[in-house]
Amino acid sequence: MNPLELEIRALIEQDGPLSIADYMALCLAHPQHGYYTTGHPVGGRASANRTGGDFITAPEVSQIFGEMIAVWCMEMWQKLGSPPSFNLVETGPGRGTLMKDLLRVSRALPDFLKAAEVYLVEISPTLSEQQSLTLSDSDLPVTWVRDVQTIPQRPTILIANELLDALPFHQWVKTDQGWREKAVGLKDGALVFTTRPATLAPTSLPADHHAAPVGTIYETAPAREGFVATIAQRLKTDTGAALFIDYGHISTGFGDTLQAVRGHGFANPLLEPGKSDITSHVDFAPLLSTARLSGCVAPEPVTQGAFLISLGLLERAGNLGTNKPASVQQTLQSAVERLAEPDKMGDLFKVMAFGAPASLDARWPGFA
Ligand code: SAH
Repeated sequence: MNPLELEIRALIEQDGPLSIADYMALCLAHPQHGYYTTGHPVGGRASANRTGGDFITAPEVSQIFGEMIAVWCMEMWQKLGSPPSFNLVETGPGRGTLMKDLLRVSRALPDFLKAAEVYLVEISPTLSEQQSLTLSDSDLPVTWVRDVQTIPQRPTILIANELLDALPFHQWVKTDQGWREKAVGLKDGALVFTTRPATLAPTSLPADHHAAPVGTIYETAPAREGFVATIAQRLKTDTGAALFIDYGHISTGFGDTLQAVRGHGFANPLLEPGKSDITSHVDFAPLLSTARLSGCVAPEPVTQGAFLISLGLLERAGNLGTNKPASVQQTLQSAVERLAEPDKMGDLFKVMAFGAPASLDARWPGFA
């Protein structure tokens, strides 16, 4: 049995079932055995000459994704009044590909590059190493931190792709006795889903929760709200803007979105803890409220497809393909489809932005 599972079993035997949030935090971020602390999550399938990853993210699909994010960052920097010094922050940078593409494109705006202090916020030593390899010929020095709060106070532009889904969430299940917290327990020597006594205040439930049938699942993610609040408060004080992209929904709803992914397929989240990526769909509604309550302005979130197309995805792909062989044009075409088509990543992924001062609120790039 793997050492993390032994540790999880001991915790359950001692204290009773673990919340989904605690189980997930151990699986993903355990200092010795966590999925992100030890693994190589992002990347294609394994081949004879390279270690495989478990899933592919938008920056790994095509350089155009990072280029569009660069366009967003440069426009936001100008909207902020082109501050002569600012933090360019990425939280959860994976292999570092997005930042690499972003920095390459922003050579087009030398004053932006000159003003940028690059920070990567990462909890994984293996991924930090990978990021430093990817960015080894970067135009700018890069500083790694584990905690976004330790970044010096100055105007900030922060981006995060597929980070929020990796922050812990709770699940609640409607029973005959009311809502109970779903949990991970032990039965007949195996990890199983069960419930634990914790309850959810009715005010924390959607208004129509009475009508939900027994067995309905509702998800909450105070860790995600806390993370967004921390950033929104910093932006409110220091000015700046943040961009979050993730799979999820714009309006709160019911449903079980817990998933484990390993080797490019779905896995059982209770088997071999620490060996698969455990996530849920992000509910952007409470995150948007959190940002606004913290004093930031924010446009209504949009789909990734709408966002990328509004920033010029199609034009950029057209330019890259001009006078290129048919094979290159075909690759670009598939990348554009994968990133933006409604039945691929285009609709499932949503984009949320917020920032300060209030004058940012006119015409957010990508949210037209
Ligand atoms: N943004 C990348 C990687 C997404 S995977 C991409 O699009 O390819 C999630 C990333 O978030 C990994 O780099 C992981 O190590 C990091 N991560 C997970 N939890 C984190 C936390 N609490 N703080 C900072 N980074 C975290």
